[in-house]
Amino acid sequence: ATLPYDDGNVFARILRGELPCTRVHEDEWTLAFADINPQAPHHVLVIPKGAYVSWDDFSARASDAEIAGFVRAVGLVARAAGLVEPGYRLLANIGHDAHQEVPHLHVHILAGRPLGPMLA
Ligand code: 5GP
Repeated sequence: ATLPYDDGNVFARILRGELPCTRVHEDEWTLAFADINPQAPHHVLVIPKGAYVSWDDFSARASDAEIAGFVRAVGLVARAAGLVEPGYRLLANIGHDAHQEVPHLHVHILAGRPLGPMLA
């Protein structure tokens, strides 16, 4: 079962403006910002503004408008950064075995170098 949402997680604090971030996009539904520990030349995190622990929680509870807004924002952020032609990777870690560290849904956008085959 999904854990209850923890309002003290770092992305909740970023959304509340309590912690700084390098913002690359914001709209009604989403915030996108640079990862603090980039794993590729381009490493951006896209998060919904709503309080969702993970993709599992979001896909179960979010409204259609929130889901559409989030999915469109991920595509827009990648397109606006010019990543479509060279290519990019989307990644979301869900839960323990995936090593999800921050319990607020985030999609990683990774690009800027050949990323190699998908990790195990
Ligand atoms: P996860 O393992 O949960 O999928 O990834 C969490 C990501 O959040 C990591 O890539 C980590 O570098 C990033 N991160 C953790 N804390 C912060 C923070 O305070 N600010 C930013 N911009 N990124 C963070």
